[in-house]
Amino acid sequence: METPPFSELGLPSELLAAVESLGFERPSPIQAKAIPVALTGRDILGLSHTGSGKTAAFTLPLLAKLDFKKRLPQALILCPTRELAVQVCEEVHRLGSKLGQLRAVPVYGGAPMDRQLRALRDGVQVVVGTPGRVMDHLRRGSFDVSEIQTIVLDEADRMLDLGFREEMEELLGSLPKERQSMFFSATMSKGVSHLIGKFGNNPETVQIDQKAKTVSTIDQSYFEVRERSKVEVLSRLLDMEQARLAIIFCNTKRSVDECTESLLARGYTVDRLHGDITQQMRERVLRRFREGTIELLVATDVAARGLDVENIDVVFNYDLPQDPEDYVHRIGRTGRAGRSGRAVSFVFGREIHRLEMIERYTRQVIRREKVPSQEQVEG
Ligand code: ADP
Ligand code: MG
Repeated sequence: METPPFSELGLPSELLAAVESLGFERPSPIQAKAIPVALTGRDILGLSHTGSGKTAAFTLPLLAKLDFKKRLPQALILCPTRELAVQVCEEVHRLGSKLGQLRAVPVYGGAPMDRQLRALRDGVQVVVGTPGRVMDHLRRGSFDVSEIQTIVLDEADRMLDLGFREEMEELLGSLPKERQSMFFSATMSKGVSHLIGKFGNNPETVQIDQKAKTVSTIDQSYFEVRERSKVEVLSRLLDMEQARLAIIFCNTKRSVDECTESLLARGYTVDRLHGDITQQMRERVLRRFREGTIELLVATDVAARGLDVENIDVVFNYDLPQDPEDYVHRIGRTGRAGRSGRAVSFVFGREIHRLEMIERYTRQVIRREKVPSQEQVEG
């Protein structure tokens, strides 16, 4: 689908200049649909698949509304994880680069409080944070929300899954009534409709391509693998595919640790990401993965949502996710912005039923493949 050019969406020239400098040629479908609606100030529920450019779809309109004469934060973006908060904040900076005096600050747990406090006092316009830490600041009185005009809930369903309901409700309840609320996600849930019913003001739903929940440019297949031969099969596939960057998803921290150790022992450049790893370390791992210093990242679902690392060739479901939604989010780490990608799942015994559930949910067929023999790998 050909979308109209960015210049026809009603955005101010500074934002058009930023979009151009980023090399975005045309708006993505969700951007083309959501931006004009969001610019009217209406509440909005935006649903579209992973990697479809939702960040810019909500960031551009909120930047267009900022009043640089004001000293207090005017827009708040909530994200489910620290990594995502940092990433979205970077995108806010990039998209606002031509606005001159834009200040945006990421606010999340595990990072020093005093630096965030200073930043919050120092005339920022945009706050991007995780619900827990944002709520901390609000309770301490260090975050003045009286001038907030826009609230964005990015990956709203995921934040609910992570148990942030209370913080989100308290936060939404503390914001000025005269405001715009934007709910964005790849997947819709009961919890989200409940939240919208309670705190939204008759939002307009903007929805793209919900028939096929996963991106069609991702080639999806599975291998039937016994539990104890998983590492062996993984390493054969890694050698055959010659993937430059790959993410390997596991269901538990322990599984992440075991898989990482086995791959290290086999000589791969690999590191891990899960909830027990310190914030500083997580940031370092991600940076090294982005740079390509690490080629393989083993992770729990903490890393699944929203992370945007360029050119990930393959996503492995080393453990098949429990929840079909997690499958969608995991494999959405590849095939971003129209590029191709590959998703490979390991299925063990009765997990085949779970795979079928995923196929029904995504309405896509996941192809079965035969495990390559050692000879095939070497040949
Ligand atoms: P989502 O939140 O929907 O999963 P993101 O907002 O993270 O997707 O965007 C995915 C990638 O696409 C990012 O690297 C982003 O910079 C890029 N992108 C966004 N909009 C455009 C566009 N209009 N043209 C080209 N690339 C884009
Ligand atoms: Mg996103």
